[in-house]
Amino acid sequence: MDTQKTHKSFAAGSVIMKQGETGDCAYIIEEGKVEILLEITDGTKKTIGTRGNGSIIGEMALVDDAPRVATVVAIEDCKMIEITADDFNSRLKTTDPVINMITQVILTRYRDMLRRVEIMRDNDNFHAPEIVERDYTEQTDIVESIKTANEFKAAIGSGELELHYQPFVDLDTKQITGFEALMRWEHPVKGYISPGVFIPLAENGGFIIEASRWAFEEACTALKRIQQSTGKDDLTMSVNFTSDDFSQNDFVEQTVKTIEKNDIKPEQIKLEITERILIGQPDRAKEALEQCRKAGINVAIDDFGTGYSSLSYLYYFPINFLKIDQSFMRTIYNDERSLELVKSIIALGKNLGMKIIGEGIEGQEEADLLRDMGCEMAQGYYFAKPMAEHAVINAVRSWDPERF
Ligand code: C2E
Ligand code: CA
Ligand code: CA
Repeated sequence: MDTQKTHKSFAAGSVIMKQGETGDCAYIIEEGKVEILLEITDGTKKTIGTRGNGSIIGEMALVDDAPRVATVVAIEDCKMIEITADDFNSRLKTTDPVINMITQVILTRYRDMLRRVEIMRDNDNFHAPEIVERDYTEQTDIVESIKTANEFKAAIGSGELELHYQPFVDLDTKQITGFEALMRWEHPVKGYISPGVFIPLAENGGFIIEASRWAFEEACTALKRIQQSTGKDDLTMSVNFTSDDFSQNDFVEQTVKTIEKNDIKPEQIKLEITERILIGQPDRAKEALEQCRKAGINVAIDDFGTGYSSLSYLYYFPINFLKIDQSFMRTIYNDERSLELVKSIIALGKNLGMKIIGEGIEGQEEADLLRDMGCEMAQGYYFAKPMAEHAVINAVRSWDPERF
């Protein structure tokens, strides 16, 4: 683990953080003193305390990107150690899973306490704290989370965990070009649990790598079987990966090995990654992605347009597919700005030589609109929902492009 520290100096009188602005780091005071000021609703500022050597300030930025709750001003020349949210979170992931979860619960409770103080101060609303209390009890049931996380770990490779496959469709021909593998977990007691719940648990619990390896192996063998059953040997398979997967030194080697073992072409595989991977460890991610591209494997940026809205990484990283996030599809019809944004995303991606995929297409209008704007491929309930392997084989066999 990288233990390098970033030191920062602030002269007396300088503003270290400002109430209402977002921040992505906390500071430990090594030397000097700061004053904490709270701006109240009528605009007046009130000093609520001072902090000196060894104190931590701005720590809520480590849990979320909500605005800073107070202003901090240096009242002496200060030296600080900067702790970024990304660094903190990557350290948390590699620590003991119980410590990780307890830390997250403490921070979530602290954030909640601050919110309640704010609600009471601003609105004099005495019912709101009870509502917040109920929400956070649900969110932070640590015993339940640890239990579910351990059950998920046991489910990997046990048959409880499955992959479903959602088709991609060529918007011109309306033919199926391939699939995205999506995990499905049928808990023996609780029933269906959404990947939106268990993927973060697996990430926090430190076993997402194991889950991703299982998913990739399974998706590759399924692609081979689907090819053999349908006689279509140019279908593709997309698999989702997280930043933890990319932190493995042998990620590319393992990926290439699995593709070779299953006798499929690397061009038939697409790795789906989100912007977070690129932001967290840009150099490592760039190197791994370059090696993947050199091996012929495709790389898609997932949920595009929702994350960090930094476009520079589109130039920097070797990405050849861009998936426009489904949130745009919900607004593309009634919001002119959303439509213009999608148009710009398509133009930008195409200028960089990328293929564009529209996600979450639920109606013909969206499909037609996207095709007319130059988007090549689409995925969504309008064409097909994620399906089990046997259903996907039937869908390929009986697919009628004229239906759309
Ligand atoms: P994602 O990668 O963006 O996957 C697309 C999600 O949108 C899927 O939800 C899919 O079922 C849903 N979807 C597809 N078409 C439509 C549509 O027309 N309308 C609507 N409303 N939704 C649509 P799902 O399967 O619940 O997965 C949620 C997220 O969980 C995925 O988002 C992905 O981030 C994560 N996930 C799922 N499987 C895996 C996996 O094997 N590995 C990793 N790392 N993450 C996974
Ligand atoms: Ca995806
Ligand atoms: Ca997506």
